[in-house]
Amino acid sequence: MIPPQVIDKIFDVAPIEEVVGEYVTLKRAGANYKGLCPFHDDKSPSMSVSPSKGIFKCFSCGQGGNIFQFIMEHEGLSYPLAIKHLADRYNIPIEEEDIDVDELQEEARIKEGVYVCLEFAKKHFYERLNDSQDGKVVYKPYLTERGINQQTIDKFQIGLSGTEKSHLLNEGLKNGYTVQQLFDAGLVKKINEDQGIIESNLRDTFIERIVFPIYNVSGKVLGFGGRIIKKDTKAPKYLNSPETIVYEKRKQLYGLSISKNQIRKSDQVFLVEGYMDVVSLNQSGVENVVAASGTAFTEEQARLLKRFTHNITMLFDGDVAGVNASLKHISTLLEAGLNVRVALFPEGEDPDSFIQKRGTAEFQSYVSEKAQNFIELISEIKLGENKHDPINKAEAARAIAENIASIPDPLKRAAFINETATSLEIPERILIDEVNKFKLDNRKQKERETRREARQEERNIADGPPPGFDYVPDFTEFKSPEALNVDKVNYQELELLRNLILYADREFDEEQNVAQFIFKELEEDEIWPMDDEYSLIFKEALEYLTEDNVLNELYFIRNPKTSKIAADALSVKYSLSKGWEENFEKIVKTDEDNYKRQVVENLNYVKLKHIDILMTENQEGLKTAETEEDISIYQNVHTNLQEIRKKITDQIGTVILR
Ligand SMILES: [Zn+2]
Repeated sequence: MIPPQVIDKIFDVAPIEEVVGEYVTLKRAGANYKGLCPFHDDKSPSMSVSPSKGIFKCFSCGQGGNIFQFIMEHEGLSYPLAIKHLADRYNIPIEEEDIDVDELQEEARIKEGVYVCLEFAKKHFYERLNDSQDGKVVYKPYLTERGINQQTIDKFQIGLSGTEKSHLLNEGLKNGYTVQQLFDAGLVKKINEDQGIIESNLRDTFIERIVFPIYNVSGKVLGFGGRIIKKDTKAPKYLNSPETIVYEKRKQLYGLSISKNQIRKSDQVFLVEGYMDVVSLNQSGVENVVAASGTAFTEEQARLLKRFTHNITMLFDGDVAGVNASLKHISTLLEAGLNVRVALFPEGEDPDSFIQKRGTAEFQSYVSEKAQNFIELISEIKLGENKHDPINKAEAARAIAENIASIPDPLKRAAFINETATSLEIPERILIDEVNKFKLDNRKQKERETRREARQEERNIADGPPPGFDYVPDFTEFKSPEALNVDKVNYQELELLRNLILYADREFDEEQNVAQFIFKELEEDEIWPMDDEYSLIFKEALEYLTEDNVLNELYFIRNPKTSKIAADALSVKYSLSKGWEENFEKIVKTDEDNYKRQVVENLNYVKLKHIDILMTENQEGLKTAETEEDISIYQNVHTNLQEIRKKITDQIGTVILR
């Protein structure tokens, strides 16, 4: 168990806007912040962050909670590991033995093992580059020659792999990591695919390579990119870590953890092709730069970037491969709603070589001069020298229309259609038709995919779970609010819990506050929430209160069992329109004035539900009663319950149908 003092300390030093702000660009909105929700495909900022309450809440997908919930959801960690993650981030020491391994889910445990293994490898490689003979004599001079200085090596933690087949394997084992962990981390690979993960069948993934650690957005090492410097070898020049349990290439961008603040500040990002471009531009003071690892730019990567800026400029080599790559990326970026520009470098040059040769100032003026939008780029490529060739023109128009069709914003689409019509001298109506044709095609394509997925799903269900999987569908998580309404017991109890969270330390009357009143009422009538989860929450809160603690919203926000519900209860949608906000203020005001009425009402509903259940049970008993005496007992109970019920319904003041 991690001591509660440690957890409280983290709450005290880790402001939620800072924790969330590491992953999402937040903008002030009154007393709160808002930003694009990272948990669903968010088009406009749906997530609200409240610094004063320490909670976040997405009004679109419903995700919400405190700092730990955010880290758990975002990093896919268990609760103890989320605590450890933030403790590390804010330099709060945690004893390893405080983390109860049994609390960790199997997957989280494997992940944690992989993360520490990768961290170890990073450190080891870095030390090898700086301290070993090879590093000093061969590899570092190579980096220096390519213009990489010590400061940059430190900043990116660039390192050097082993030079023999089992260097890291041996080092890892010596330092207490298992073969399985080293394998799961992608640091070693099998020699013979058909054989198992045993020491004799494993070798290092990176041999004789300069290695660049690949980080996720929060700075955790996920894998490495390795560059070979020897020329007389069949090995590929660049080699990346394989996909692992922690490294999904389609979701990562190289350099983002280092560049994100600069991207946010300048509201602009440069997308380049290689690690060396990122490293080299950084060293020259251009820090808002990332690279996509892999050839295709994915939807996930676009979404990731969008959290920091909407403005992206691709800096690609002007050769055929570079042009084709940039064209391939454009529609993905446009589809994500990003503003895209492309600056192509003279053939044979990349951003790295350009900035090294010509310096930062010339680089910047080149980029701002050369950056084109996709219409200009495609026109230039398709038209070439023959600007008036009708066939070239048609081809250009079609390619542009296809890209315009993927832009979600209709206003932007209209503006681009207009620009294309003017520059290609083609009637706008024809372009609109062409764009619509592509839009229709896209939609049909999407529908086909959805249908195919649905069919696949049906087939999977018909086939049953694959062997070895005990597949039990959990429908509870799909409970809609309507479903909750049907399930009245829980619903009323949830409402009462929300009242407790919102008003616990408010005055109820001269003698007691709301929490004391609620608990007294529940205890007197021997009524306790029937829902196990809520019941436990109430019991713990009561215990906390009777130990002379102050029970207020902070308790519920910090308690992992209630932080989600608390975030929900305490969140007020930040803004829709001015008028809406004013109206809402009024509603909130009235709502606050009525808190005592609300508490009494919800208590009554909870009690009523209990009595109804008791009455039903009593009726069942009556049916099976055999002796005169039993029957009269049941009848007495029935009369009593009916009386209590009437009192409550009178108090509620409405007729409640049974
Ligand atoms: Zn969301």
